[in-house]
Amino acid sequence: MNTLEKMILDKALVLDGGILKVDMFLNHQIDPHLIMSMGKDFHEHFKNREITKVLTVEASGIPIALATALEFDVPVVFAKKGRNKNVGPDVYTSQVYSYTKGEPYEINIFKKYLTADDKVLFIDDFLANGAAAKGILDIVGQAGATLMGVGIAIEKGFQDGGALLRGMGIDLYSLAIIEAMEPGKITLREHE
Ligand code: 5GP
Repeated sequence: MNTLEKMILDKALVLDGGILKVDMFLNHQIDPHLIMSMGKDFHEHFKNREITKVLTVEASGIPIALATALEFDVPVVFAKKGRNKNVGPDVYTSQVYSYTKGEPYEINIFKKYLTADDKVLFIDDFLANGAAAKGILDIVGQAGATLMGVGIAIEKGFQDGGALLRGMGIDLYSLAIIEAMEPGKITLREHE
């Protein structure tokens, strides 16, 4: 069992509505040792692939993406959420349906920070239905860049995102996969 999995079992809370609350170590208060070890773990999995950029979505993905990008020695680019005043010819944009907020939002990335030469690793804190990943895939496609893989801290294995991405032939690597959860009980998927 890795450190993230231990922390999930020790500290995470399951809220009504299928939300796992991990803001005591991952996305409000942040455990820097955990984040740095996650970067090393993602690097170990993807190190044989050429990666030129780590992409994520603000805000919770940024620390994990940064730790990963440091290992690859490449920049991080995070998609900004919400309508960008500069939306226009200089910006790639896509619509994402927010699982936690229950409404759509826009993500955007300046074209100058993602080009057809880029080989992209997408990193995020959670994978639920895959909406954020689909938005990033859309933007990677608009840029003519290449998606080399997807690294997720916590995959909710009982939702559709994992099957969607693996079904597309994407190399999806999740550090922890939640098999099932209910208030007071979290079941993790065993590693293969
Ligand atoms: P998806 O786009 O795959 O449906 O959902 C992933 C996004 O929704 C993540 O970037 C994360 O911000 C948020 N999310 C989905 N499920 C959870 C959850 O159980 N807990 C938390 N904290 N965020 C979640």
